[in-house]
Amino acid sequence: MTRSPIRPLPTHLVNQIAAGEVVERPASVVKELVENALDAKATRIDVTIEGGGRDLIRVTDDGVGIPPEELPLALAPHATSKIVRAEDLEAILTMGFRGEALASIASVSRVRIVSRTRDADAAASIEAEGDRIGAPQPAAAPPGTSVSVQTLFCNVPARRKFLKSESAEASRIVETLESIAMGHPRIRFTLTNGSKTVLDLAATDDLRRRASEVLDVERAGLTGDKAPLLEANGDEGPLTVWGLVGRPELARANAKHLRIHLNGRPVADRAILHAVREAYRGLIAPGFTPLAAIFLELHPREVDVNVHPAKTEVRFRQPSMIHQGVLRAVRRALRAADLVPAFELAPSAPAPAPGAPLAWRPSGGGALSAPSWSTPSRATGGMPPLEDIAEALGVKPWAEPTPAAPATESPSALPTVARAVEILQVHSAYLVTQDAEGLLIVDQHALHERVMFEKLFERVARGPLERQSLLVPAIVECSGREIEALESLAPLFERLGIEAAPAGPRSIAVHAFPSFLFERGVDAGDFLRELVAKAADGTLGAATGEAPTALATEVESALADTLDMMACKAAVKAGDRLSIEELRELLAWRERVERSTNCPHGRPTSLRITMRDLERQFGRG
Ligand code: ADP
Ligand code: MG
Repeated sequence: MTRSPIRPLPTHLVNQIAAGEVVERPASVVKELVENALDAKATRIDVTIEGGGRDLIRVTDDGVGIPPEELPLALAPHATSKIVRAEDLEAILTMGFRGEALASIASVSRVRIVSRTRDADAAASIEAEGDRIGAPQPAAAPPGTSVSVQTLFCNVPARRKFLKSESAEASRIVETLESIAMGHPRIRFTLTNGSKTVLDLAATDDLRRRASEVLDVERAGLTGDKAPLLEANGDEGPLTVWGLVGRPELARANAKHLRIHLNGRPVADRAILHAVREAYRGLIAPGFTPLAAIFLELHPREVDVNVHPAKTEVRFRQPSMIHQGVLRAVRRALRAADLVPAFELAPSAPAPAPGAPLAWRPSGGGALSAPSWSTPSRATGGMPPLEDIAEALGVKPWAEPTPAAPATESPSALPTVARAVEILQVHSAYLVTQDAEGLLIVDQHALHERVMFEKLFERVARGPLERQSLLVPAIVECSGREIEALESLAPLFERLGIEAAPAGPRSIAVHAFPSFLFERGVDAGDFLRELVAKAADGTLGAATGEAPTALATEVESALADTLDMMACKAAVKAGDRLSIEELRELLAWRERVERSTNCPHGRPTSLRITMRDLERQFGRG
């Protein structure tokens, strides 16, 4: 067999190979060209595309421009005006630095650059296609640079075939441009697709305004009076977090509306994505992603952006600090907000028939007068006094006194919330009561589950749960994989007061179980069977749909999932009849625990019908 000699690859081929990494699709070309315009200090960037970017992409800016003699260099590989020394790589302040984008793009398309520096009288142009670079020619154009890319992948048919439909590629471009624009509010951006303007973002000094414009909350379909976006703030050592996060009901099934920026650069970072989702755990359904724009500022030394040519992946020096910082900031924003969804009554309620009785008017004042509900008898098999649970868990039930209702100034003023709130249990499943804004309907199981979950969470942070040794170990039949999974659960069991060990090739023996579950009559064997099954098939802690990156978060997610299981099993069920004291207690806890508006699975615990809704429905508004 003959051997081929080793030969250096022709430059053109090297560029084409490199292009595979930088230029994946039209949107990546847009990204590179727009980043160049940003680096050139443009104040306005106009993007034009045709055929979803496959036929034409043109990016025009009013930046510093390129002098005619440097035009060939702009297209040469590894030529850049942005870094000079190796040390510069350690703290990169520009979007570009690798000096390969234009060369790569030119190797797989036809490129024309027209540019004029701010102090020049005229512009110059240059054209390149494949391995041919033309000579600069005089041209007429205003100061700035315009780069046109025609027939992308004209010489790489395999790539061209791989591209998606025109509209799919176009929407990727919109997304890319929006992401970049979000981090640069002072720059005006436009995007024209064929002859249609699809994006026109006016320059503003207000990051908040640009971010909400891009998130397009109005189109996201939120109605009601509450601000759809909450502001998140946080500082964590060298990290500053600022963001706008959407109310839980704005969450979507795709991740397109969660945008993360690091030092002005859109990034795709799984750990940050995970932190944001984690903050919403229990507020949105699993698999959904909140609507949010998160901006991180970090000293460039704390992050390496030179991981991948596309520069959307980054590597942090202290990833867990970043995760914590984002999680805390978003959580704080959500906690500070009233997240009870307003229950929208159908506006098309049937109009009263002509002869129908008039709307009933309460005799005294306009306040919702509380009927005297019948007090249910002592619950049977219902909720254990929460105080007992609190005690079993070592949590002091409301040490602080009940916050007094705000004093009403004049006697004629409407009371905000009646002090002794009346509560009705409906069909042994729902609680109905009033609050300052109107009527509140609560799912007793969902709320109790949330209350228990939060208490458990708090309790576990302080040390292992009290355990109850079983006189006779509970034996659980299981598979070999489940027995293997048991081992991985050891650190979790330690904290939860569970003791379990293999009792044979196909069985596990449970020797101890958390006391409070024991007291609630939860079957130790059933619980363990479900837990190891989840651990074995990898669904434990995977509720947020995103594999956590750091081990710490993996353990936390598994812990949260298990506590959730415990809360669900121990909570009152629909059908449990509760006494008035128990109802009061449950509602009192609602005010005291975090995230009480949703159960740990994200379903709402409460619905509200505001007084305004009622008035509208009764034709009084
Ligand atoms: P990089 O951005 O990594 O330096 P590029 O291949 O994207 O590499 O660009 C090469 C060089 O061309 C840049 O360093 C810059 O000097 C010049 N350049 C590219 N686009 C523009 C532009 N829109 N305005 C001014 N200069 C530009
Ligand atoms: Mg560049």
